[in-house]
Amino acid sequence: MARLRIEALSKSFGGTDAVREVSLDIADGEFLVLLGPSGCGKSTLLRMIAGLEDPTSGRILLDGRDITTEPPQRRDLAMVFQSYALYPHLTVAKNIGFPLRARRHSRAAIAERVERVAATLELSPLLDRRPAALSGGQRQRVALARAMVRDPGAFLMDEPLSNLDAKLRSATRAELIGLHRRLGATFLYVTHDQVEAMTMATRIALLNAGAVEQVGTPEELYDRPRSTFVAGFLGSPPMNLFPAVVHSRDGGLRVRADGVDAALPIADRVDDQPVIAGIRPEQLRLDPDGGAVRGRVTMVENLGSEELVHVEVGATTLCARAPRPAGARVGEPIGFRVDPAHVHLFDPDSGLRLTWRAPSDTAAPEPDAARAVPVP
Ligand code: ATP
Repeated sequence: MARLRIEALSKSFGGTDAVREVSLDIADGEFLVLLGPSGCGKSTLLRMIAGLEDPTSGRILLDGRDITTEPPQRRDLAMVFQSYALYPHLTVAKNIGFPLRARRHSRAAIAERVERVAATLELSPLLDRRPAALSGGQRQRVALARAMVRDPGAFLMDEPLSNLDAKLRSATRAELIGLHRRLGATFLYVTHDQVEAMTMATRIALLNAGAVEQVGTPEELYDRPRSTFVAGFLGSPPMNLFPAVVHSRDGGLRVRADGVDAALPIADRVDDQPVIAGIRPEQLRLDPDGGAVRGRVTMVENLGSEELVHVEVGATTLCARAPRPAGARVGEPIGFRVDPAHVHLFDPDSGLRLTWRAPSDTAAPEPDAARAVPVP
């Protein structure tokens, strides 16, 4: 059992606010990923939870118990580092059993537990080797086994896959998902890799400059980004964002920019409201006669099964993702259809997502109160 509650946690290093008032509730058995660009405070936040860094202010609660000032060994949390931190002179078995020896468990109890954990992670044939004779993936599994051997309430992981090559990383991602399901333990996992976050997390907390920008399931963050920062961070390539104007025409609302004129599923009446419009690359559907977005192809990138088509549209360049061959040729005009449900709108000043009344909403729009409002 491990329910973690972080309350207004902050950390300053001299003049640098590395973590700013972060509050999070992590349920027992969750796989919460702390995601964000380099330097946003992910590692500092995890290290404070592990007890390796003292917070400047705020509290950390584990199953309701305040552990903010407890030493790391008394927290019932196990940490797995990017560097694995294995002892080179000890065998795999001794490395895995180390936390139990430090707690003076009996020799027989340690041997039994090490064998069980090694079997779970398919390390049994390697127990007599030393770390230097293991591959990167095997070392990473030993580090995991050493964390598991104590049966901790929660696992704290700081970029544990970043030293692995692409193929092994994808295989280890699948292993970690399976391990989390089998153990039913709480996982708190730091990464800057959105693919790791999207594939493994039950929820993602996206950090920006030390503060939480959005917390939610991978689908919530991808489908309803709370801000232009979230929209621009998730997705590869990220969402196309460009300045536009929303206005009423022919009884409906449309979003318009140079080369863009798309309908919106919105019941509110608005006159010439400036917005930042967003469309994901996979939502730009190639259509030679499509009128919603029109431009000129500047570059085509071949990804194997798909192509990225870069298109100059007015003053901006948009990117579309389409199955290969998309049939786009550099220098030629091109058109796209846009499903109105997939157009995102953000406030140009705050960058926050704008909410509007959908046509299906029963309440009749109040003409005077019909301006879009940012989501709180
Ligand atoms: P990365 O993905 O690059 O590891 P991160 O999101 O984990 O980045 P942190 O390592 O938590 O970021 O660092 C957050 C900020 O705090 C950075 O500006 C960093 O330079 C600063 N920082 C971290 N540790 C210290 C320290 N011991 N002394 C001074 N500044 C620090």
